[in-house]
Amino acid sequence: MKADVIDGKALAEKIRAELKSKIEKQGLQVGLAVILAGSNPASQVYVTNKITACGQVGIKSFVHYLGDDTTEEQLVKLIKKLNTDKKVNGILVQLPLPKHLDERKILSHINPAKDVDGFHALNAGAMFLGWEDCLPACTPAGCIELIKSTKVDMAGKHAVVVGRSNIVGKPVAILLLNENCTVTIAHSKTKDLPSVTRQADILVAAVGRKHFITADMIKPGAIVIDVGINREDGRLYGDVDFDNASKVASHITPVPGGVGPMTITMLLKNTVKAALK
Ligand code: NDP
Repeated sequence: MKADVIDGKALAEKIRAELKSKIEKQGLQVGLAVILAGSNPASQVYVTNKITACGQVGIKSFVHYLGDDTTEEQLVKLIKKLNTDKKVNGILVQLPLPKHLDERKILSHINPAKDVDGFHALNAGAMFLGWEDCLPACTPAGCIELIKSTKVDMAGKHAVVVGRSNIVGKPVAILLLNENCTVTIAHSKTKDLPSVTRQADILVAAVGRKHFITADMIKPGAIVIDVGINREDGRLYGDVDFDNASKVASHITPVPGGVGPMTITMLLKNTVKAALK
């Protein structure tokens, strides 16, 4: 068997085209404010990619570069200003913040209606409750779109999520539950992980270890979503041993070109959703 490769880049482009057309047809004025505090080089690349993506679909971006020595007071003052700015529908604080700043405290100041990253406790709670109008965390929402693109009915399927972080593992598990999957969450304390992952009709890997999920851990015919981004010698590797896993799975996402492009696309989708609200 050779798995169908789920093309995250193509799906991301399709959704971006739909968003662009929606913005144009409805004459929407959509604005995203991005705050980058500090000089983390990876964060600078992510912010540039987000601004470019906004431009592609017709979302206006407002970028605020703050220094490494930005104080909590300055950052909160800016967030409060953006909370009431009518041109700004979404506010994104690029993470990680410089070490002296408390991320949880800072993020709690974002108006939940503008929290397009979906990290605010109110949005996480709304997602937990299955509220349609919540702004879901972007990477987990992207995983669900990728699974839906296979046209396989998710209801009743056993989904196993490996990883329980607040930004990926936990929210993706809740979204899978909301799609009527039977969900198991595995983590570093899980006993006999291969016997758990082999039960998965849908397997989501969000561990952060290169090729951690091997072919023998996958049920034949499973859908495999690889969230992992592991950098080694200038190359990107997923959490799944793609070459061998694709001989067992029915559908699988590649790295790069799977979940990655969908994350920014879900940010754009949340920003349009926030504007329409
Ligand atoms: P975290 O490090 O926060 O979480 C990793 C999870 O994996 C933890 O829950 C941990 O368990 C679990 N884990 C670690 N070792 C094992 C093990 N031996 N067996 C089972 N579970 C294990 O990572 P993130 O969730 O933030 O990210 C996961 C991966 O996804 C990373 O590679 C990251 O770069 C990538 N990522 C990709 C994105 C994208 O857009 N494509 C966006 C965000 C992240 P425990 O809780 O017990 O410690």
